[in-house]
Amino acid sequence: MDSELTRETSLLLGVNDDSPVFEQNTSGRSPFLFTSDHYGRLIPKVLGDLGLPENELVRHIAWDIGIAGTAERLSKLLDAHLIAQRYSRLVIDCNRPPRAASSIPILSEATTIPGNEGLSREDAEIRRREIFDPYHRRIDEIIDQRAHDKRPTLLLSLHSFTPVYTGVARPWHIGTLYHRDRTLPPLLLQALRAEGDLVVGDNEPYAVNEETDYTIPVHGEARGLVTTGIEIRQDLIADDSGQQQWAERLARILGEIAATLGTTPASA
Ligand SMILES: [Zn+2]
Repeated sequence: MDSELTRETSLLLGVNDDSPVFEQNTSGRSPFLFTSDHYGRLIPKVLGDLGLPENELVRHIAWDIGIAGTAERLSKLLDAHLIAQRYSRLVIDCNRPPRAASSIPILSEATTIPGNEGLSREDAEIRRREIFDPYHRRIDEIIDQRAHDKRPTLLLSLHSFTPVYTGVARPWHIGTLYHRDRTLPPLLLQALRAEGDLVVGDNEPYAVNEETDYTIPVHGEARGLVTTGIEIRQDLIADDSGQQQWAERLARILGEIAATLGTTPASA
């Protein structure tokens, strides 16, 4: 029983490990609900370093560099609820269906992850139960709660991408990623292009699909929410000032979009 799982009965997260779920502005009034699947790069203590040197564990393969600071600032500026996941995507990727081969990657870009080789089904299941499930259960609960309270939810999944992947440089500053929703992605694309100084990716550098993505298809599209993902290039948000600038820019743009959609913040 997941809900009865405690640190005492846990097989992965111990008393000195953080909860996988990080939240900010739980009573935020914005129609936007932000998620961040690759917010953190913690590793449960029992897994050590997954057999990787420190210089690999700070790279983009472990987490979305810069997104934590950007997401927190954006959540504050818009008074929006942020639900984020603290553990490294190398432990379990919270934006992959657990059935996908890349859920617990053995190879990421050109790096093999020794701690994930030869993992038993049982060990994979434990990672799912203790990290993936609590995070997604929380997102589910919050969306249910907002629906129950008759509050609108515009679901935005926040990510960042590496400027160079397998030797290929990526030109975009920011991209939207989406699949079925026809409301939010075009508005966001239009607004980002109107900024005039941005190279904007339309489903670049990634597109959403149900085989390899989880948060947008499951929490957004399957529930009929207005939803999109945002990918920001990591070199632009590597430091505090970049994070602040991007959070301010996105807060302005998203505020205008919320007004266009007629979803203004709930009254206090
Ligand atoms: Zn990501």
